[in-house]
Amino acid sequence: MRDHDDLKQFFAEAGHPAFRADQLLRDVCKRGATNYEDMSNLPVSLREVLKAQLPVLSIEEKEVSLAPDGSVRKVLLRCKKDGKKIEAVLMRFDDGRRTVCVSSQVGCAVGCKFCATGKMGFTRNLTYEEIADQVLFFVLDLKDYGEEITNVVFMGMGEPFNNYDNVMRAVRHLNDSRALGLGARNMTLSTAGVVSGILKLADEGLQVNLAISLHSPIQKLREKLMPIAAKYPLDDLMSAVSEYTKETHRRVSYEYVMLAGINDDVSLAHELGKLCKGQLCHVNLIPYNFTKGNRFKRSAQDSIDEFKRIVETYNVPITVRVSLGQGIDAACGQLAS
Ligand code: SAH
Ligand code: SF4
Repeated sequence: MRDHDDLKQFFAEAGHPAFRADQLLRDVCKRGATNYEDMSNLPVSLREVLKAQLPVLSIEEKEVSLAPDGSVRKVLLRCKKDGKKIEAVLMRFDDGRRTVCVSSQVGCAVGCKFCATGKMGFTRNLTYEEIADQVLFFVLDLKDYGEEITNVVFMGMGEPFNNYDNVMRAVRHLNDSRALGLGARNMTLSTAGVVSGILKLADEGLQVNLAISLHSPIQKLREKLMPIAAKYPLDDLMSAVSEYTKETHRRVSYEYVMLAGINDDVSLAHELGKLCKGQLCHVNLIPYNFTKGNRFKRSAQDSIDEFKRIVETYNVPITVRVSLGQGIDAACGQLAS
């Protein structure tokens, strides 16, 4: 569903009053109406126009995969405008959180070596509507079960800051109380380290969370794992984060995928500890999830525990992420259409 600005313009051009925009958003986002026939508060003639010109959702479900325990639901979605496919994932955590992981692009140009999306290459940016509709899709889906979406993470396919404007517009749309009204504090943007995006975000005045995919505290190794590190070196990345923290006073999180024998050595744990010491940050260790076409292996549990213990000696808060959805290829890094 389009955002309030777009709808206002649409109705103005069609010669209808602006309050129709609020009404339509309310019908879809709050009442859960999925087709115009059910919106009896709109004039019949207007419903015909809307039906022809403005689909309620810009994407449609092609396939659903469910984890056997019901904790994860992955959907393959088809973009109505050109048939491109993307994936979005719903995670149902034991603590009650209902988190949607959304894609921001079809494919990704960054090409991280351990990521299935990176293997696909880049096709196109998603529109703000296609991004926000992944959340709306699950909101509508969960209504039948009496559940609500609580969180959104931009950790699906694509690099959000390579599609900055659409991503920010989607965030504002999702946040809009006339639409879904999701708290900005409950949304997390994850970037492979696009410095310009981090600096821009610092000036948005939004309470969203920022996650940075670090994966190595050392430039040389980081560059091997993530080619984008050559364009945005670690020093520049750290300066941008420091600028961001000064501006927003918000805690950033660093993502660190644990690859056996590659970036899980104790010496790197010390380097990571030194790098993060004193920063307003949190480190998330992500045990590597299997993807085709590379030789990486997940670090052993002992190495992960030891790595974590060492980083903690630098007074850096650190946790190991529980990865849901590996069985259905829905975990971090496994999304590819
Ligand atoms: N493009 C953004 C967001 C999407 S990826 C980014 O890179 O930050 C979400 C997270 O999953 C990132 O931290 C990414 O590095 C991580 N990831 C990618 N492939 C993975 C894999 N095979 N196993 C575990 N985590 C992976
Ligand atoms: Fe793109 Fe993120 Fe995958 Fe890297 S990890 S290839 S940035 S989606």
